[in-house]
Amino acid sequence: MSERAAPFYCPYCGDEDLRPSEQGHGAWECAACNRAFQLKFLGLLARGLQHTDAGGDEI
Ligand SMILES: [Zn+2]
Repeated sequence: MSERAAPFYCPYCGDEDLRPSEQGHGAWECAACNRAFQLKFLGLLARGLQHTDAGGDEI
């Protein structure tokens, strides 16, 4: 399995101008708000899959 999990939107400002960071695997930088963040896969949820049509989180 690859380590790539690409976010579509910045979780902080919601911009789409994301680029991979040199900080390491799963690290991304937002060009709009200059934040760097990292995605990490924590594991599968015990409750199983739930299909939701809403892709994003509302802040
Ligand atoms: Zn941002």
